Amino acid sequence: MEINLINLIERYGDDKKCRKYLEALRWQDGMICPRCSGTTISRIYDRDQFDCDDCRYQFSVTAGSIFDGTHLPLWKWFLAVYLILESKKAISANQLKRSLAISYKTAWYLCHRIRRAVLEASKSKLKGIVEIDETYVGGKKRYVGSGSLEGKTMVLGAVERGGEIRLRVERRKKATKKVLHAFINSTTEPTTERLMTDENPAYLGIADADTTHETVNHRAEEWVRGDVHTNSVEGVWSLFKRGIVGSYHQVSAKHLQAYIDEFEWRFNGRDNPELFRDTMIRLLNTPKMEFKELIEKSA
Ligand SMILES: [Zn+2]
Repeated sequence: MEINLINLIERYGDDKKCRKYLEALRWQDGMICPRCSGTTISRIYDRDQFDCDDCRYQFSVTAGSIFDGTHLPLWKWFLAVYLILESKKAISANQLKRSLAISYKTAWYLCHRIRRAVLEASKSKLKGIVEIDETYVGGKKRYVGSGSLEGKTMVLGAVERGGEIRLRVERRKKATKKVLHAFINSTTEPTTERLMTDENPAYLGIADADTTHETVNHRAEEWVRGDVHTNSVEGVWSLFKRGIVGSYHQVSAKHLQAYIDEFEWRFNGRDNPELFRDTMIRLLNTPKMEFKELIEKSA
C-alpha cells in the first residue's frame, strides 16, 4: 500500500496502532520469544508487553530493535520515516525538529538511527548497461582557486540503466585508476555488458572479454553518441547535490556516507510502493544503537 500523509495518520496516528503494525511485521510467521525462541507467548495487556511461557522473559514488540528504549512515541518515528522517505532532496535534522516538535538532539539521533538501518549489509552488484562517474562535494569554495579540489570529498557513482544506483564516499583525493577500477569491480557484476564513462583516462583498461567500455568526450563537448552517454549518473548527481545544498548547508565528510546511504535507499526505492513497509522491517531488524556508538560509527 502506498503511504501518504493522510492514510499515515489514519493508520498509525497513535502508539497502539503503531505497535499493532510492528507486531504484524515482526512476527509474520507467528510470535517467538527473542530470548529462547519459545512460541507460547501471553500478552500483558496493560503494559504493551508479552510474556514468554517457557523462560518468563517479558518483552515488547520493539525489543532488541532500533526502537528499543526510545522515549519518542512510536507514531513520531513513523512520521519521521515517512518524512525522510518523502523528501526527495533529503530532510535535515533541523527540519525534522520543527516538523515533529522534538529537540534537535532527538531529531539528529532519529535521522542517524534511520539512516543506519537502511544501510544495506550486502548489496547486489549492478549489471547490464552501467554508467560510472565521480563528483566532488563540500569544501570551502571561497578560499580556493577555481578547479582546486581542496577540502572537497570525492563521491563515486554507478548507475544501472533502468535499475539501481550505488554511491560511495572515497577518502582518497584523486580518482586514480586504482580507485576507479576498485569501485567498478565492487559495484558491478563481472558480466556487466557495457560500462559508460567520460574520457578520464583512469577508466581505461576496465573492459574485458564480456564487458565493453564506451566513453563520451566531455572535454570535446560530446555528451551523447547514440546510446553512449552518462546522463543517468549525472541526473543522480544533480538530484544529490540539490539535496546536499538545499537541506544540509554543510555536510561534514564524516557524515557524508550516511547521507549517501539514505539517498541511495530512497532513490532505489522510488518505484517501490512498499518502501515504507520495507523500511519499517529494516528498522525492526536493526539492533538498537547507543548515542555514543552512533557518534563513533558516524566518525
Ligand atoms: Zn522465552
